[in-house]
Amino acid sequence: MKPCFFPCAAALALLALTSIVNPASAQFCKPDAQNRSSLLHCCHGNNIKAALLCSQYASSSIARMQRIKTLRDALWLSLRSAEPQSATTKAQQDIVPLVGKTIVVDAGHGGKDSGATRGGIEEKNLCLAIVLKLKQRLLDQGIRVIMIRDKDVFVELDDRVKMTNQAHPDIFVSVHINSSNNSVSRGIEVYYYTRQSERLSWCIYRALVSGLRVVGRGVHKEGFRVIKHVTAPAVLAEVGYTTNTPERTLLADSKYQERIAEAVVAGINQFFASASNDGTP
Ligand SMILES: [Zn+2]
Repeated sequence: MKPCFFPCAAALALLALTSIVNPASAQFCKPDAQNRSSLLHCCHGNNIKAALLCSQYASSSIARMQRIKTLRDALWLSLRSAEPQSATTKAQQDIVPLVGKTIVVDAGHGGKDSGATRGGIEEKNLCLAIVLKLKQRLLDQGIRVIMIRDKDVFVELDDRVKMTNQAHPDIFVSVHINSSNNSVSRGIEVYYYTRQSERLSWCIYRALVSGLRVVGRGVHKEGFRVIKHVTAPAVLAEVGYTTNTPERTLLADSKYQERIAEAVVAGINQFFASASNDGTP
């Protein structure tokens, strides 16, 4: 299995210090200041020098754009696409791995099915809050997002599968919150069923564990209906426990939900980036 690559902040900082910015030599694509997708596209398509410029542009002109405002972000985007820039389809995929992809996002439970409920907090509502944040982050990257539900409605499991397969997405991601009779249990679990889903599950799992700095409880093969019958690579992520009081408090916090969404997006990025590098789906 191809491991996912996570550049560390220290390495990025070192690169920032050792890189020489030369505006004249950088192929800088000037982004639309109002459009984060445009900015991401420009950053993706350039080298480290250009990314430095891109970062400067971002920080000076578009402070209201919340998510790409640091040098580290810009360098990370650039490093991810640091392939020889020949005019081939594969190279273009390396540069902008997520633009044009279709992702089906599934919030667990909904409507009459509340999922695991503790302390007045219902799993269905936590799942929905997280996937709405995930949706926005994916849209910001130029991804086509199909939501199984974007409000508190009940959707049969078979209908979730049907909707997904009819959309022919690149991947399917389902978000759930775990529960246990043991109130001490906490952390992340990610499930897959089909062989083509295993690498995606590892990418999202590692991104969640490292991004949230929480306990990793492993990646598991399990025949949950939504991931068993979806034809695209499909994962079901349990992003914490409602039955663990401190974790439940975190899961209900909007900022923590943003961090979960951010981590899932990072995992998806790693999946597509490594796929475009080694030619596997
Ligand atoms: Zn659930």
